[in-house]
Amino acid sequence: MLGKKLRQRSCIACRKLATREDLIRTVLIGNEVKVDLNHRMSGRGAWLHPNCFLVVTERKSFNHAFKYEGEIKFEEVADYLKGLSN
Ligand SMILES: [Zn+2]
Repeated sequence: MLGKKLRQRSCIACRKLATREDLIRTVLIGNEVKVDLNHRMSGRGAWLHPNCFLVVTERKSFNHAFKYEGEIKFEEVADYLKGLSN
């Protein structure tokens, strides 16, 4: 088992530090952003507050976070967050 290390991550939108519990981890696969619920997917992760998603889409923060130029699809994240608020 892993120890209880509270490693903090910064949100790609507001840049505030938060624990993993307060953020969702996303990874870029191809040009699609996937929600990494178990924090197990390999690759560069981008962390964000659920409430910051709108800012992320407006500022194209995914492009910056993943250093990806071009269109990024994030429907899966949008759907996931919709599910959270229900
Ligand atoms: Zn944030």
